[in-house]
Amino acid sequence: MRLLLLGGTSEARALAADLVEAGIDVTSSLAGRVARPRLPVGKVRIGGFGGVPGLRAALADYDAVVDATHPFALGMSTNAAAACTDVPLLRLERPGWAPDPAWHHVDTHAAAATTAASLGSRPFLTVGRQELARFVPALGHLPALARVVDVPTIPLPPAWQLVTDRGPYTLADELTVLREHRTDVLVTKDSGGSYTRPKLDAAAELGVAVVVVRRPPPPPGVRTVHDVADAVAWAKSLSRRELA
Ligand code: NAP
Repeated sequence: MRLLLLGGTSEARALAADLVEAGIDVTSSLAGRVARPRLPVGKVRIGGFGGVPGLRAALADYDAVVDATHPFALGMSTNAAAACTDVPLLRLERPGWAPDPAWHHVDTHAAAATTAASLGSRPFLTVGRQELARFVPALGHLPALARVVDVPTIPLPPAWQLVTDRGPYTLADELTVLREHRTDVLVTKDSGGSYTRPKLDAAAELGVAVVVVRRPPPPPGVRTVHDVADAVAWAKSLSRRELA
């Protein structure tokens, strides 16, 4: 069985490793957004497919698809749901963070910007470089710290400080960052997972306000699991069916 794994996440890499180990012919697909991606084991292809028609054409080479993209990569997930009409599709999505009653939840990055402006004057932005432009109108005049994996393509306000870094982070790392910047409001999206969770624990420890952007609703009707082991079991059961 040839499986296409839409990746770009730590759980996609974990799944690729387990599938290779199980003898399944897996090809991981990465968008090609970051300069030095962490590559999974097994075969890898890089770059967009060209929307739904391109993905549908590419699916001629595969028997199944696992969409293990990031919870905020809604474009790719929507395309996968639309293209996989004749190919089994499974969504592997890590759970969101257990909400803390102290957090301020919002539905959009624009709302996160205005909410952060009402809560503090030294924001720490951990929303990804593609979203930073949405924070400029409300926070451009403030000494924000923006942490990203790759340098953004847009010019940032002179008052902002940019840090390029990539998790996983420890609680000690995050306490240092928040203290040194004197952060009073942290902005994040509900990515879930353990790699970037410590900043929330550090914020709680230091009494820093937290603004969390809720996940967009996923495309409806796609079978979804939250554990790599469940995705492996799904792929193995399809593989057994293929062999029978
Ligand atoms: P997106 O907005 O959902 O996708 C936009 C387009 O990028 C897709 O239509 C597709 O282009 C291409 N694409 C996205 N993921 C792809 C993949 N795994 N393989 C091949 N093409 C892909 O995606 P995004 O939010 O920019 O995220 C890009 C990638 O970074 C995703 O793979 C995601 O897992 C990873 N990532 C995203 C975030 C985040 O916060 N958004 C965080 C960590 C990692 P075509 O239409 O041309 O096929």
